[in-house]
Amino acid sequence: MWPFRRGVTVTCIACGTSLPRAEAREYDKFGDRWDRVGKSFEHLCKPCHRELSRTPAADLESLLVEAGAGECGEPEFLARYFAGVDCWETAIERRRRE
Ligand SMILES: [Zn+2]
Repeated sequence: MWPFRRGVTVTCIACGTSLPRAEAREYDKFGDRWDRVGKSFEHLCKPCHRELSRTPAADLESLLVEAGAGECGEPEFLARYFAGVDCWETAIERRRRE
């Protein structure tokens, strides 16, 4: 363990549990925790990390941002999100046919 990390407490973004940093797992919402330049990481406790979906989430983060996650009301967000998912699924289906 790196000396400056001793005693640091983090909060699991899934369940809200506070735990020592050394017992947590890093979570990168962009799916690439090896690229560390200019990033700050969120954390998950081990039980929540085990339940994390391993399904690739390419483009999900940009879809959430475009839909206004955390910036608009829930009805507007859901309408924009599902419209985005429809476009996304159509594009994926189009790629499969090509
Ligand atoms: Zn947790």
